[in-house]
Amino acid sequence: MISNQNIISAEPRLADPLLQVNDLKKHFALRGTGLMAHRGSSVKAVDGVSFDIGHGETFGIVGESGCGKSTLGKVIVRLQEASAGQVVFEGQDILALDAARMRAVRRDIQIVFQDPYASLNPRMTVAQIVGEPFAIHRLGNGAEREARVMRLLDAVGLSRSHAIRYPHEFSGGQRQRIGIARALALNPKLIVCDEPVSALDVSTQSQVINLLADLQKEFGLAYLFIAHGLAVVKHISERVGVMYLGKMVEIAPKRALFAQPAHPYTQALMSAIPLPDPTLRRQRIVLQGDVPSPVNPPSGCRFHTRCPRAAEVGEACRTVEPPMIRIAERHWAACHLLTPCPPAAS
Ligand code: SF4
Repeated sequence: MISNQNIISAEPRLADPLLQVNDLKKHFALRGTGLMAHRGSSVKAVDGVSFDIGHGETFGIVGESGCGKSTLGKVIVRLQEASAGQVVFEGQDILALDAARMRAVRRDIQIVFQDPYASLNPRMTVAQIVGEPFAIHRLGNGAEREARVMRLLDAVGLSRSHAIRYPHEFSGGQRQRIGIARALALNPKLIVCDEPVSALDVSTQSQVINLLADLQKEFGLAYLFIAHGLAVVKHISERVGVMYLGKMVEIAPKRALFAQPAHPYTQALMSAIPLPDPTLRRQRIVLQGDVPSPVNPPSGCRFHTRCPRAAEVGEACRTVEPPMIRIAERHWAACHLLTPCPPAAS
């Protein structure tokens, strides 16, 4: 165990990131009148998150419902405006861009939504949905747009005959393919995948994940892949960040995270993943209590009200917020139980 005085604090950074997220915050002000008034209160959905994504990399983010992961994705693509922090894409802070300059950046950063049923306009044909980005950005003439739409349908495994059909004529997996084709239309460099497979059945989930992996190889895409559970990100991510109550608590390469999860919260999530061999049993770590309110998150370590190992540390867990420390090569976590590893020799 280490005291707070000798913690080596720093943030996990890449040398040449495509995207750099710096101390990003999204607080939603609570409103109400009379007895229901919430003066000065806010929901701290994202509360100081930092990480990088490399060119062509898949960075997975996991956490329970309400941990802020979907809000984080929406703030990064500016579907919601940040309260503070930076989102640096190819060297420029896109949160500081005006609408016209942001429109140009939107060609490079796209999003695929969780719900393929709600994210497609039911009155538009597939060709209109997939071709809509070309119309918005005034790219190409009619024939060029049509040819590009057909190539995109090929790329996501849909038939060209699907172009004239409407979203209600498709299964959930096919609708998600339509959403992916729309996201690919402008040749983006980064796609934020906001729980893209949670609404799909298990066999369709693997088809969509395999499709995303194939498209990444073909187009050199980077993904921010947001998911509810570790089992899904394991298949597609190169590095994984674990979020709890608006904060990142651990960031590591996938292999390191699954082999040696360091943070007690990650260990609890990991213990819930079923083992493929029915004769083997994993010791399940059952967390006590509910996730606390993001309006008044716990002091010190936000996980201390549910942490099965807080008693090993004592007072510091309740009073001192643990910073992210480097505990191994490219492996970072925020817990008072952990010991920082010395910097690598240059
Ligand atoms: Fe648990 Fe304390 Fe570590 Fe937080 S800092 S995860 S409460 S042991």
